[in-house]
Amino acid sequence: MKTLSDTFGRKFPYIRLSITDVCNYSCTYCLPQGYKKTPGDTRSFMSAQEISRLAKALSELGVCKIRLTGGEPTVRKDFFDILKDMKQNSNIPKVTMTTNGYRLDKIAEQLCEAGLDGINISIDSLNRETFKKLTGHDRLDEILEGIKTLQKLNFKNIKINAVLLKGINDNQEEFKKFGNFIKDKNIDFRFIELMQTGDNLEYFKKNHVSSKIFKDFLEKNNWIPQTYGKDAGPSLNFIHQEFKGKFGLIAPYSKDFCQTCNRLRITSRGDLRLCLFGNTGISIRHLLQDDTQKDELVDLIIKQLHLKKESHYLELGDTGITPNLSSTGG
Ligand code: SAM
Repeated sequence: MKTLSDTFGRKFPYIRLSITDVCNYSCTYCLPQGYKKTPGDTRSFMSAQEISRLAKALSELGVCKIRLTGGEPTVRKDFFDILKDMKQNSNIPKVTMTTNGYRLDKIAEQLCEAGLDGINISIDSLNRETFKKLTGHDRLDEILEGIKTLQKLNFKNIKINAVLLKGINDNQEEFKKFGNFIKDKNIDFRFIELMQTGDNLEYFKKNHVSSKIFKDFLEKNNWIPQTYGKDAGPSLNFIHQEFKGKFGLIAPYSKDFCQTCNRLRITSRGDLRLCLFGNTGISIRHLLQDDTQKDELVDLIIKQLHLKKESHYLELGDTGITPNLSSTGG
């Protein structure tokens, strides 16, 4: 079996696959003016058939998890066709998604039926007004309803992500609200440190806060850190005997963050990105045009991995070619 590994000995069983750049939310840290087409980029998003070929090639490379992301993946009309095809025909053991929870109350059942293996839902605040201010949408209730339905259907792998923002959700009241939410639910809640991207320098300077503030809160309240699992993501998780759910924090600016990197990204237009913040991204789309191109595609991806750098160098303010996370698949 071929595997994906780089010159630093890291392995890449995990792909984040963006299927659209379009997002219907206008989160203050990502797309404050809402989604706008990239000027000059006339390329369409990959078709369902191209995505299907890609998933099959990735399974030959030992990829065992694909996360569908965007933009907002559920705004694609053929979202469920893509998901079902991947589950039924690609041999990828785990297909998960990241979503802003748009229409989750309506589609929760369909997601379970399609065989989705895990869902990451972005909820930056459980305070309705704060949520509305941050996203531009008064939709917190429908997301929470959707989560209830998923749980009723016994859907196992639910994670909630929030971006930690200075003066907005970095306080005890918010931390406690999230704690109450996961107290009797098998849900992991993680704070992600705000990352600087090409578009958000001013916002970043104003709102970035180290995740230490949350770590201190957890330690003070008897949450116990777990060691990183072998195939785990970048989240440092904490457990507590009185809580069913886990807390976690993702600190991209921490010293060893890139050492545990196990993921590659593919953009909605078919560019392979070796790092979320890299300066390179080659198109692999020309090799998604026919089923007979699979071996050539597999070889190209393996060769590209030799170019992966040791670190994202984000701490030096190098945001690479990522204007915002919606354009790369966050
Ligand atoms: N629309 C989906 C969603 O909202 O989850 C998927 C795409 S979104 C870009 C993926 C994740 O990236 C979300 O959890 C979002 O909060 C996070 N994100 C976006 N910009 C970010 C930034 N500058 N720093 C940290 N996280 C960010």
